[in-house]
Amino acid sequence: MLSYSTQLIDDDDIAVVTEVLKSSFLAQGPRVAAFEQDLCDYTGAKYAVAFNSATSALYGAYSVADIKEGDEIITTPISFVATSNMFVTLGAKPIWCDVKLDGNINEKQIEKLITPKTKAIVVVDFAGKPVEMKSIESIAKKHNILLIDDASHALGSSIEGKKIGSFGDMSIFSFHAIKPITTSEGGAVLTDNEEYAKKLRLFRSHGVVKKELWNSDMVSMGYNLRMTEVAGALGSSQLKKLDKFIATRNRISVYFDERFKGEKLFLTQKLEANTVSSRHLYPIILNPELHCPKEDIFKELQERGLGVQVHYKPIYKNSFYQEKFGRVSLPVANDFYNSEISIPCNQTMSMQDAEYVADTVLDVIHKYTHRGCSF
Ligand SMILES: *Cc1c(COP(=O)(O)O)cnc(C)c1O
Repeated sequence: MLSYSTQLIDDDDIAVVTEVLKSSFLAQGPRVAAFEQDLCDYTGAKYAVAFNSATSALYGAYSVADIKEGDEIITTPISFVATSNMFVTLGAKPIWCDVKLDGNINEKQIEKLITPKTKAIVVVDFAGKPVEMKSIESIAKKHNILLIDDASHALGSSIEGKKIGSFGDMSIFSFHAIKPITTSEGGAVLTDNEEYAKKLRLFRSHGVVKKELWNSDMVSMGYNLRMTEVAGALGSSQLKKLDKFIATRNRISVYFDERFKGEKLFLTQKLEANTVSSRHLYPIILNPELHCPKEDIFKELQERGLGVQVHYKPIYKNSFYQEKFGRVSLPVANDFYNSEISIPCNQTMSMQDAEYVADTVLDVIHKYTHRGCSF
C-alpha cells in the first residue's frame, strides 16, 4: 500500500537512536537541547521548546499565551481536532473562519470575526502550503491579537525564503510518525519571545526551577510533557534529511501537477510563486458532481493499493463541538470536506510509484463521472 504520507527511517537514524539507548541519559540530557538548537538554526526562530507531541506543544503555547475562559479564538475548521481542542480545554471558544479551496483559512474573512473578546488567530498551513502570512500578520498587529501557527504540516515550508516557524507569535510543529519528519511522537513550539520560551520550559516540566544542590522550587503549574532523549536524537538526525524528503515529495507533486493539468473533474493545490511547501500532503479537490460517488472512489482507490485519506472533517461537525457550541456550517469548509482526497505522496515513493498513483487516480475518477449526484 502506498500511503498518503509515511516515515522514512534509515541506518543513520537507527545508529543515533541505538547510541542514545546505550548512553546514560534516556529522559533528560543533551539531545533534546541539541534538537531544539537544530530547529532554531533550520527555521530562523530564536527559541524552540520540544514537547512529547504537537498536542502538548499546542497546550503549552495556548497556556503561556494566557488563553482562558471567555476568550474567543478565530481558527480554521479544516484541521486535526487538537488545533482547537487544546484551547477549548482552557475554556476558550472557537470562532470558525471559512477556508478557501486550497484548504487554508480565508484571510479575507478573518477581520469581520474579530470582537473585543478575540485573543488569537490560530492558522494551519494546510498540506504544507503557507497561509497568507503577510495579510494575517498585519490583521493580528492592527487589532493587537496573537497569531499562532499550527504548522504541524509545514516544517520546511517558506515564504520568500523565510521559513514557516518564524512568523507570528508562536508556531507549533508535529513530529508524529507521518509528519514531515518524525521523532515517533513529538512536537515543538518555536518563538522569538524569550518570556514565552521560559514559560514553556516550566510548563512542560512541572513548573520546577532548580536551585542549589537538592533544592528546587515549583514556581508555576506544570506537567510532564517532555520529549525523550531518544526522540530528540532521532529528530536531529531526521532534520538533516528534511530538505531531501521535501525534494522527493516536490518532484512527485510537480509530476502530479503535470499529469493533472487541464483536468476537469478535480482541482489540485496551487502554490504561490514565492513559496515552498513541505508537500506533507497532496490533496485533490473533486468537483461537486463527484461528491456523491466519493465513498466509492475512495474505496476503489484503496482496493487498488492507494493509501488515501480525507483531511479533514470540519472540526465543528464533531459531536463534542456540536453539543458544546451548537451547529455550525461554513459553505467552503463543508464543500472542501466533500471534495478532498489526499493521494499518496511521500519520500519513500519512486517515480514509478508516482506514475502508478497518477494513472490509478485518473482511471478511477473518470470511471465515476457518469454517476454524478441525484438530488
Ligand atoms: C498531527 C497534527 C496535530 C497533532 O500532532 P501530534 O503530534 O500527533 O499531537 C495537530 N495539528 C495538526 C494540524 C496536525 O496535523
